[in-house]
Amino acid sequence: MADELQRWFSERVRTDLGIELNDIQLDQYETYYRLLVEWNEKMNLTGITERGAVYEKHFYDSLTLGALPEAISARSMADIGAGAGFPSIPFKIAFPQLVVTIVDSLAKRIRFLQTVVDALQLGNVTLVHGRAEDIGRLGEHRDRYDLVTARAVARLAGLNELCLPFVKVEGHFIAMKGSDNAAELEESAKSMRLLNAKLRYTRELKLPLEQSERQLIIIRKLEKTAKEYPRKAGIPLKQPLI
Ligand code: SAM
Repeated sequence: MADELQRWFSERVRTDLGIELNDIQLDQYETYYRLLVEWNEKMNLTGITERGAVYEKHFYDSLTLGALPEAISARSMADIGAGAGFPSIPFKIAFPQLVVTIVDSLAKRIRFLQTVVDALQLGNVTLVHGRAEDIGRLGEHRDRYDLVTARAVARLAGLNELCLPFVKVEGHFIAMKGSDNAAELEESAKSMRLLNAKLRYTRELKLPLEQSERQLIIIRKLEKTAKEYPRKAGIPLKQPLI
């Protein structure tokens, strides 16, 4: 039986984002929450552990992708620097048919995610331990995904180089950010051009309780990534294309 928080969560994502969740999916979010808090005692996964805050700032926040047609029409998704699984695991729970690849450079976070994927019995999730700069050069991942996401990983100019190589031509990279990214957007113009991509639009949202602002930045890939990108591991974030 869903409790008050689960009913609130289910109602908000339905009315705000148009996402319908059934009891099995609500159970999956709850199991994910429990594993997150349990594992967080042994390793650093998140600073947010209060149950309501996890539902709002991690689960709801990840599901804001559901407000975008580019995200809900995707069949394949790569989440770069997913950490404890955000946004891809909450999104996959809501859209179980999605084929998901998660890339993170920290092995212990990938181990945590394997436990989550097994416990939630999520099919079609591939977990890759490595740096995006290296994985994005492999044929099986390059120019492949309808949707690529990154939340709280780096500034946009650097992120473009980490993420756009994974996107298929005419697919989208969606960067999930806090508010006021005008300077970041401006400094990312060169990286978009060099990586054959174009800013399509931004979407502003607020978290339902905290009312903190969020911005989704939607970038379309126009052509395949040139062979010089991404540069060697470490360079894109140290010396962004600005
Ligand atoms: N996306 C998650 C979220 O919103 O909670 C995690 C954000 S955490 C601040 C950044 C994550 O990106 C870390 O788990 C880190 O290991 C990963 N990361 C940083 N640089 C990376 C790279 N070059 N390739 C792959 N993962 C990377």
